[in-house]
Amino acid sequence: MKEKIWLSSPHMGGNEMKYVNEAYNTNWIAPLGPNVNGFEEDLQKYLNIGHVAALSSGTAAIHLALVLLGVKYGDEVLASSFTFSATINPITYVGATPILVDSERDTWNMCPVELERAIKDRITKGIKPKAIILVHLYGMPAKIDKLMAVANKYGIPVIEDAAEALGSKYKGKALGTYGKFGVLSFNGNKIITTSGGGALISDDKEMIEKTRFLATQARDIAPHYQHSEIGFNYRMSNIVAGIGRGQMEVVDERVAKRRENFNFYKNIFANIDEVEILEEMNNDFFSNYWLTTILLKSENKNIEDLRLEFDKENIEVRPLWKPMHLQPVFESCPAYTNGVSEKLFEIGLCLPSGSNLTDKERFRIESVLRKHFY
Ligand SMILES: *Cc1c(COP(=O)(O)O)cnc(C)c1O
Repeated sequence: MKEKIWLSSPHMGGNEMKYVNEAYNTNWIAPLGPNVNGFEEDLQKYLNIGHVAALSSGTAAIHLALVLLGVKYGDEVLASSFTFSATINPITYVGATPILVDSERDTWNMCPVELERAIKDRITKGIKPKAIILVHLYGMPAKIDKLMAVANKYGIPVIEDAAEALGSKYKGKALGTYGKFGVLSFNGNKIITTSGGGALISDDKEMIEKTRFLATQARDIAPHYQHSEIGFNYRMSNIVAGIGRGQMEVVDERVAKRRENFNFYKNIFANIDEVEILEEMNNDFFSNYWLTTILLKSENKNIEDLRLEFDKENIEVRPLWKPMHLQPVFESCPAYTNGVSEKLFEIGLCLPSGSNLTDKERFRIESVLRKHFY
């Protein structure tokens, strides 16, 4: 069996262990400490955002954002349907109902027209949605200007799920910094990783201070343990944050590598009309190209055949996210659809996109593609 080529695997920079060892040697083995503070500062500078709370996962960050916005049992929250389930699950943790909104064709992200249609219809039905969670999928910026305009028109706060979009920008401004809150993930296959972890970011200092409070069991100030609110155990550990500090030293290199992968694929597909590659619409968009994704547009070819050919060569590729309105667990949620994400799911594929892909591995990938398409 040939060696496995992963879709996106962890890629250490080298200095991670320096920070982890520091934590070990100073006995800061806790869900707080100098690495946590340092990692938060690194992210704050990199994103040019006021405040960052490092947490145990991106999912936890979304959950806390909903809690901070006061979303409760019986409320409704609008969210991108074309995403990973972690975007939607936390809506149910607070007892609210996900209202799923379809994509537009250019960026594959939430469609501003569908968003407004959904808001108007919910208001007509007597419930104004409490929040909007929009996703920048595969690192591609959503049409954030238009989405924010709709959200502001109706006064609904936005949570940007930028879990896949660290390093991506729209009009030169980091994704995650447009909404009331931004969410990051440092899971194993993301642009940088701490093995597991996430962050909630905002320009609202009070909200991020409250995030840290809620994430450490909501302890009131008192010599004994005193609680007047429900808390969570969601803080990032100082060990994990040490990995994050090492990763932040190389984040720009990682983004550059992923963009290089995209260009590698773009060249291969330059003369293949039946393949469409997801790319930036214009210079306002800057994608980290976390994953390079393609659509197979020919009627008589099946994307599953290509997936199986990669599989035979021990190369991991993956269908696009299956829309949440098609998932058994969210089937009963109201959905505002236009057919876009269903079609994308049917004909799309994610290609190996790790920042650690070697030339040899890329050669193996290219061979499969050439055999299939030429
Ligand atoms: C990875 C991911 C998350 C969740 O992040 P975790 O850190 O794994 O909890 C949320 N949304 C999207 C779009 C993701 O890809």
